[in-house]
Amino acid sequence: MASEACDVCERSVRIAGGIGDLWNFAFESTQGLTLELTDGSEFFLCFDCMERLPDDHEPTAEDVADLRERTDPVDEDDNHFWHWG
Ligand SMILES: [Zn+2]
Repeated sequence: MASEACDVCERSVRIAGGIGDLWNFAFESTQGLTLELTDGSEFFLCFDCMERLPDDHEPTAEDVADLRERTDPVDEDDNHFWHWG
């Protein structure tokens, strides 16, 4: 089991095997994935941060940077809850 740091909240998240066969591994075992943006840039995001990206348009590097700006890096803490708004 590998782990990678989320590009937004910097939390270390577990990832299962290759990203290539995303649909072949259980979602419980992986907590983030690599997001490929339309401009070709790539970010590794945990699902928490992914959910916080705008869903009314394709996320851009700017959206990720903006989200990162609004997000405090968190320590390893599975009980962390986000404060919205
Ligand atoms: Zn994150």
